[in-house]
Amino acid sequence: MIKTSADLRKAFLDFFASKQHQIVPSSSLVPGNDATLLFTNAGMVQFKDVFLGADKRSYTRATSSQRCVRAGGKHNDLENVGYTARHHTFFEMLGNFSFGDYFKEEAITFAWEFLTKVLKLPEDKLLVTIYETDEEAFQIWANKIGVPEEKIIRIGDKSADKKYESDNFWSMGDTGPCGPCSEIFYDHGEHIWGGPPGSPEEDGDRFIEIWNIVFMQFNRQASGEMSPLPKPSVDTGMGLERIAAILQGVHSNYEIDIFQALIKDTAKLLDCADLEHKSLRVIADHIRSCSFLIVDGVMPAGDGRGYVLRRIIRRAVRHGHKLEAKSHFFYRLVSSLIEQMGEAYPELVAQKHIIEKILRIEEEQFEKTLDRGMALLEDILTDLDGDTISGEDVFKLYDTYGFPADLTADIARERDLKIDEQGFDEAMKQQRERAQQASQFGTDYNEQLKSDKHTSFKGYTNSSYSATVIELFDN
Ligand code: ATP
Ligand code: MG
Ligand code: MG
Ligand code: MG
Repeated sequence: MIKTSADLRKAFLDFFASKQHQIVPSSSLVPGNDATLLFTNAGMVQFKDVFLGADKRSYTRATSSQRCVRAGGKHNDLENVGYTARHHTFFEMLGNFSFGDYFKEEAITFAWEFLTKVLKLPEDKLLVTIYETDEEAFQIWANKIGVPEEKIIRIGDKSADKKYESDNFWSMGDTGPCGPCSEIFYDHGEHIWGGPPGSPEEDGDRFIEIWNIVFMQFNRQASGEMSPLPKPSVDTGMGLERIAAILQGVHSNYEIDIFQALIKDTAKLLDCADLEHKSLRVIADHIRSCSFLIVDGVMPAGDGRGYVLRRIIRRAVRHGHKLEAKSHFFYRLVSSLIEQMGEAYPELVAQKHIIEKILRIEEEQFEKTLDRGMALLEDILTDLDGDTISGEDVFKLYDTYGFPADLTADIARERDLKIDEQGFDEAMKQQRERAQQASQFGTDYNEQLKSDKHTSFKGYTNSSYSATVIELFDN
């Protein structure tokens, strides 16, 4: 019986290897081939150029278990963590890929065989979606696989004028490969709120999407015109944690083996008796993404990828604060993570001390201002008129206390409040302009320093910055 996450990962790769797929290791979370992408967010990322025909491999079928982060950019699930049963910032995506090799029939048949024969999931709990006009996929599901017609749901475009903006129509970008999708959902039962895909209650967690199969069938031109690809391809992705939940007989991803262990260790560390506490889930999620981002070379910083990492760390620390953490705790969870995932990811073990050190420094830095920032926020909330925290206040928390805007938004949401994002962006813009003006001045200043032989600059005779500047201009 396949139950643990480790067994599941292996069973998946073995199954596709037995179908002549090359097992390809997970690539880094920092995409090596795409500067426009913040993080690797799907298994297909490392194969992008293969799909485009720009990169040739010795194989036409591949399978992988890809580490993914969805915490920024196009796919951002940071806000979902702690609120849904199925979203993480870091997760593993199991995938199989055909590069101009097999197409719809084999892709669907493989997926069904793996779920119902290898994992032995009950067929009556599964339902599928197709793109509304994809008759080919419909025929395969209905006639070859034998899924009852009422369990094949057609998903169309979101609106008539926004053509191809559908969950079931995938595209690589505005131009290039694209095509319809077919998804497989699992019904966790009536006792859980939610409706089937396409229904008004689809955002609930009763029906959980487990596998997404993309049929790359067309090439879209800049004009919007679509021509058939000479060699259609397949890209699939299945969340390891979601399928592990089903195999382990639980509903939420946070109830699976890896997460339960992390949650228990966090609860112990923070002396929290309520194992269901939302903050424990958030922290358990965040220790995974933060540790793996550091393993892949991302360092906390004030912008770009590093800022996303910093934001996630600060969120985790804030949730620790909410649980009344007495001292630095976040870095202490690295050992616990290694216990769970070190075998599958030896790089975690190899870089343990670096991860711990970076997390510790970040936590120490943020702790200095967290209490004061929280106190200010409480004041703001007490005086709040309406349900929105002003952009100016959000900016002040960011600028003075190091509260990333999404952190303030996270706290606001817990109290049914919002933040004025536009106002915050405006305040940020103004600060940038001020900084630019200041740095123009700074350039002149450096020029003066470089050419001090030609001026009468006497060096740092006074200890204060302003005294030096006065000295420069006095002469
Ligand atoms: P959802 O609609 O539930 O947000 P998705 O359609 O955004 O999922 P895909 O982009 O199709 O997800 O990714 C392929 C698979 O990866 C999904 O079917 C799911 O099993 C898994 N997955 C996607 N996002 C997450 C996440 N944030 N955490 C865990 N697993 C995920
Ligand atoms: Mg999603
Ligand atoms: Mg979806
Ligand atoms: Mg999907």
